[in-house]
Amino acid sequence: MSLFITSLNSGSNGNCYYVGNEHEAVLIDAGISCRETEKRMLRLGLSIQKVKAIFISHEHSDHISGVPVLAKKHNIPVYITPGTLKHLRIIPEDYQIVHFIANNPVTIGGLTITAFSKFHDAIEPHSFIVTCKDITVGVFTDIGVACENLITHFSKCHAAFLEANYDDEMLDNGGYPYHLKRRIRGGHGHLSNKQALELFINHKPEFMTHLLLAHLSKNNNSPELVYQLFSSNANGTEVVVASRYEETAVYHIGEVNTVIGRAKQLAFNL
Ligand SMILES: [Zn+2]
Ligand SMILES: [Zn+2]
Repeated sequence: MSLFITSLNSGSNGNCYYVGNEHEAVLIDAGISCRETEKRMLRLGLSIQKVKAIFISHEHSDHISGVPVLAKKHNIPVYITPGTLKHLRIIPEDYQIVHFIANNPVTIGGLTITAFSKFHDAIEPHSFIVTCKDITVGVFTDIGVACENLITHFSKCHAAFLEANYDDEMLDNGGYPYHLKRRIRGGHGHLSNKQALELFINHKPEFMTHLLLAHLSKNNNSPELVYQLFSSNANGTEVVVASRYEETAVYHIGEVNTVIGRAKQLAFNL
């Protein structure tokens, strides 16, 4: 069995990543509105009925703002750590909360979801891998540093959403105040293009077919730059830059490279 993946939105304005097989799916984060989530899934030919869980990576609003309406309307359980739940600005009502623990796999139909901790300025931040049979997809955004945990899980992935948040030079020369620049690159902020590229070059497994670059900064990065940087080091892996404004195509991981749903986008057509 293989996995279907898409980024419904990626960036500081909202994150929502879909990973599923033919029968069930999970969303990693729900940071765009329920309406937009529905609209984008419909455009891609994905059924919201298949979504059996929403996993929350951390409490920042770009990862949770769509949760209450989406979970309630479609009766989807929300998987979250107790610490993140406590710091949530939204009050969970009328939908099911399930706690997860790092490194304890959760089985949802044919999918196995494993969380692991990461460095980010949130209360209990986690990344995830989703496995179906022998195919693994990782969702790795909002990470201050490429820690051992990340390296271990990245090197298992047939496809990965990987943060490439900022270009060093653009951040240096940009208008962000000093404290914000320090927060972004301080080890608990975001991964730079350079850090992500080092991880990709040094730890990409041979079987990784797709790399979806995620959570690009609007002000301190450029989709074209990221695409060029990674595609020139891709060695056969398909490189896609996930957009802040729209969904990517649906990628079918585990079989001959197939793109389903919309016509395949130019990777940097943002
Ligand atoms: Zn974020
Ligand atoms: Zn964050």
